[in-house]
Amino acid sequence: MSEHALDSNGRLRHLITLEGLGRQHIEDLLDRACELRLAFADGACGPQLLRGRTIVNLFFEASTRTRSSFELAARRLGATVLNFEMSSSSTSKGETLEDTLATLEAMQADAFVVRHRENGTPERLARHAKRAAVLNAGDGNHAHPTQGLLDALTIRDRHPDFSRLKVTLCGDIRHSRVARSDLHVLGALGTGEIRLCGPAALMPPVDEFPGCRVFEDFDDALSGSDVLIMLRLQRERMAEALVSDEAEYFRRFGLTSERLRHAAPEALVMHPGPMNRGIEIAADVADGPQSVILEQVSNGIPVRMAALASLLGA
Ligand code: ASP
Repeated sequence: MSEHALDSNGRLRHLITLEGLGRQHIEDLLDRACELRLAFADGACGPQLLRGRTIVNLFFEASTRTRSSFELAARRLGATVLNFEMSSSSTSKGETLEDTLATLEAMQADAFVVRHRENGTPERLARHAKRAAVLNAGDGNHAHPTQGLLDALTIRDRHPDFSRLKVTLCGDIRHSRVARSDLHVLGALGTGEIRLCGPAALMPPVDEFPGCRVFEDFDDALSGSDVLIMLRLQRERMAEALVSDEAEYFRRFGLTSERLRHAAPEALVMHPGPMNRGIEIAADVADGPQSVILEQVSNGIPVRMAALASLLGA
């Protein structure tokens, strides 16, 4: 965890990664997300915890769901939201990111939600921020902490005791920031067994996650799994085409209803989106009774509310 993430009272100041964040911090964020989910249920107008505060979305990489989810979370809590997209910002005129941040901080921005294709950009900005909080909305293949939290919340809703769970992540783990944040949160919550599966070329370096079991055969990995997290092929982060034949990939690693029978009965099917139907997951499984993919999307809002409110001391 970044040395800048906590203030002198041990309170969370920035949310850059879940790595090294203690179980208590994680449980507190998940509990707060549950309270906010209840307070805003069925379109209710919940507490306006961020009235008068300004949240800036700084997105340097395309995003639909994460940006809208952060924006809705902030607006529902009463904040003013500014959206900056790379193409229309001054950085395209040569301004440094640090200067952009300082300028917006001078306009009383309270928090920056940052997405960037390079690992480490949110952390760099956090180091530079004087007063504002920085939340990582996904950097390279490094971290996507709010996705990790919303995945944990979605699992916890059905299975509060992580120590009894076998969780399988399948797909392009090497290039996935979601996988890394999931692995950090699953580890912190004491998950019984974590399995990684995918072609060797898409596995993380062997020593990165020493506690995980690695499988090349998907049926073996699925056997008895309680939770399946399917990941997209992150072609935009591959230096070369590591998977040339998508039909063959689907045959070996695609989640079909027939395959799903190898997993524990009622195993949860998850995907962070965007989904490629027919490549990593069959359409009937994505839309089927075991899929909690849209619950993940819904849970993104209270999780982001909880993160914003906690970082801003609200
Ligand atoms: N939306 C997720 C991310 O930003 C997953 C993906 O793009 O496949 O990393």
